[in-house]
Amino acid sequence: MLDKRNELNAWDRDHFFHPSTHMGMHARGETPTRVIAGAEGVYITDTSGKKSLDAFAGLYCVNVGYGRQKIADAIAEQAKNLAYYHAYVGHGTEASITLSKMIIDRAPEGMSRVYFGLSGSDANETNIKLIWYYNNILGRPEKKKIISRWRGYHGSGVMTGSLTGLELFHKAFDLPRAPILHTEAPYFFRRADRSMDEEQFAQYCADKLEEMILAEGPETVAAFIGEPILGTGGIVPPPKTYWQKIQAVLDKYDVLLVADEVVTGFGRLGTMFGSDHYGMKPDLITIAKGLTSAYAPLSGSIVSDKMWQVLVQGSDQLGAIGHGWTYSAHPICAAAGIANLELVDELGIVENSGSTGTYFRSELAKAVGDHKHVGEVRGDGLMAAVEFVEDKDDRTFFDPSKKIGPQVAAALLERGVIGRAMPQGDILGFAPPLCLTREEADTVVKAAAGAIESVLSNL
Ligand code: PMP
Repeated sequence: MLDKRNELNAWDRDHFFHPSTHMGMHARGETPTRVIAGAEGVYITDTSGKKSLDAFAGLYCVNVGYGRQKIADAIAEQAKNLAYYHAYVGHGTEASITLSKMIIDRAPEGMSRVYFGLSGSDANETNIKLIWYYNNILGRPEKKKIISRWRGYHGSGVMTGSLTGLELFHKAFDLPRAPILHTEAPYFFRRADRSMDEEQFAQYCADKLEEMILAEGPETVAAFIGEPILGTGGIVPPPKTYWQKIQAVLDKYDVLLVADEVVTGFGRLGTMFGSDHYGMKPDLITIAKGLTSAYAPLSGSIVSDKMWQVLVQGSDQLGAIGHGWTYSAHPICAAAGIANLELVDELGIVENSGSTGTYFRSELAKAVGDHKHVGEVRGDGLMAAVEFVEDKDDRTFFDPSKKIGPQVAAALLERGVIGRAMPQGDILGFAPPLCLTREEADTVVKAAAGAIESVLSNL
């Protein structure tokens, strides 16, 4: 076993190009390789036998938890009966058609069709193309700009990486590309000047958006994209009334809204969709992670009836839509999606996400909120973040080179719990599987309190 582990470690250093990893440090063996061998419920186990409570559900995706027999059986059955057929020129499978119906049944009002992809990034790529196609059909070829937010996360491709508003994803890739623009992040804790209350800050963000639309020319601005709650950018719930105020600006200038629900879709905030939770009225919704709970890669762009009617009209002028992936609506992934959504209902995990989420966040705030270096404990549903500050009263932040966030995440892992050091700022994030129990939540809180104490108390 040890030989096998050493061999895997060596192959990993020599051949595996890891995403979002420091290449040099990893190749030189300066950062650990952790080979995950198995998982059950909310726990993962590595090849050394170490077990950890995965309080980030992989990358906030394993919503129903690990080791679900029902999904494994559905995948095996589908692979045996019909491993693949494409969805081009009107082809479908029972699994892909059934899943599209199940998604629309659960989606916010006014949604009509699902275009399937494999990742959140490619689904947002589809959204960008549909927005452009839509405005070309409507005879407004100049209306193409898409406004995103600083700290938004929408993917890693050329255009979707441009939508993403994090420096790390732009740096040295010559991104962002036109016609993508970024506006104010709705990050009350970091950005609001202290004379503003939350609603005033929401108004400030909406005013900034309106200023940008007017400066660019409303006839050139096609869409606005946002996650209902900022995810990778720091797990930041929107300030009160933010979405209502943003929506009013978008309606005024005929700008489409894309709700990126890759993280929030299918229950993470205690409602099936985050759009319903915050009263957003999207024209397109991006889904991925929770659609299959990551048992198979599958994403989708949910298209509103309003857009669909225009797209259909366009097909009479333009012919078949020139946009397709080989694996769009892959039947094995669709079978995983059906079994997953059935489990979501059977287990009542949307409700659990709301109730256990409230419990978890309140226990976390009680345990660590008063620490002198904890600036804020925030979140919604089963998403939570602890943001560290150098000085609480002045709200000053640590020098990033101190790597406080990663240090706390490492101390947490030593205590048997996985959280995530969010990529920008000293923020420890949690997004556990939505089947989390209160006892498991207590385990996470206890480990978090210990980790924070060990790293931050002697600074
Ligand atoms: N949108 C959001 C909100 C995300 O959080 C992510 C991934 N974390 C993506 C899009 C991109 O998804 P993927 O990594 O599957 O391409």
